[in-house]
Amino acid sequence: MKSKYTIATLGSHSALQILRGGKDEGFKTIVVCKKEHCQIYRYFRVADKVLEIHSYDEFPTVEDELLKENAILVPHASLIAYMSLDAVGKIRVPYYGNRRILLWESDRDRQRKWLEKAGLNLPRVYEDPDEIDGLCIVKFQGAKGGQGYFLARSSEEFRQKIGALKDYSIQEYVVGIPVYIHYFYSVIRGELELMGFDRRYESNVDAISRIPAGLQEGIDVTYTIVGNFPLFLRESLLPEVFKMGQRVVEASREVCEPGIFGPFCLETVVTPDLKFYVFEISARIVAGTNVFMEGSPYAYLKHGIPMTTGRRIALEIREAIEQGRLKEILG
Ligand code: ADP
Repeated sequence: MKSKYTIATLGSHSALQILRGGKDEGFKTIVVCKKEHCQIYRYFRVADKVLEIHSYDEFPTVEDELLKENAILVPHASLIAYMSLDAVGKIRVPYYGNRRILLWESDRDRQRKWLEKAGLNLPRVYEDPDEIDGLCIVKFQGAKGGQGYFLARSSEEFRQKIGALKDYSIQEYVVGIPVYIHYFYSVIRGELELMGFDRRYESNVDAISRIPAGLQEGIDVTYTIVGNFPLFLRESLLPEVFKMGQRVVEASREVCEPGIFGPFCLETVVTPDLKFYVFEISARIVAGTNVFMEGSPYAYLKHGIPMTTGRRIALEIREAIEQGRLKEILG
């Protein structure tokens, strides 16, 4: 039954993991990618078919072929970043996940409302730069992977650094260690799963401790993501991790029926008193899950086999097909 269906995704971000996961669960796989990216999907033999496009705007031109192959499209951050929300809304190929939740993820105010409803600790937001009374981080809408973000301690420093740049948000900078939590909510099993944790490797902020403090003056830090590290969390923190994830799922049902399902990530900073501050939510698979290509310790404990987030998605689709419940996981 499942072999009648195909798992498809765009060739970028976590496509290797998604396609390999599809194959591991017995699906045919298709990758849609720009010419210059095709080679790696052929090299790793994760795609049965590679559909070339010149630009992401051309995605609609391959939709008939995807429909013919009974494809189910698995989204990731690049799909959402390279195609507009509007274009994603118009995709005709069956889409894994609730695409309306992206409206809540992509709008800063709505996202905050959702996380507040979930009762999570959030960093303070400065609506007016004149309110700045401590260390803050300045972020830009649509900034790719932390590039250009900067820190400031006062409104004067903020003004000097912001120049003519617009569309920023100013958040309290929480001093602690970053922990990115990978969840998976299964509609078919009605259960929240913990897939793993990562931390990021960012240039140049992660380079600053390699320079003696006395020589750091004049170096402005920024947060351009370069890679990710796996992380194993103190076991006593796990109950809190589950509680936060569960509350996010419940609050999502109130703001955007039927709520969030499939993979999502809470981006947090943990302070020395072991409090989690959530500064962002990603409402789909995150690239940090790529560090667990052979399965994370938590997914192994749960499933007894190396289970990546990509494979977990395919398993969910397989179980939905087998139980005649596919409609429940498309959105
Ligand atoms: P992106 O928009 O690329 O997801 P993030 O919002 O994840 O960027 O932030 C980039 C970096 O800034 C991360 O290392 C994160 O840990 C750090 N960061 C973001 N917000 C805060 C905050 N409020 N306090 C401390 N660090 C933060």
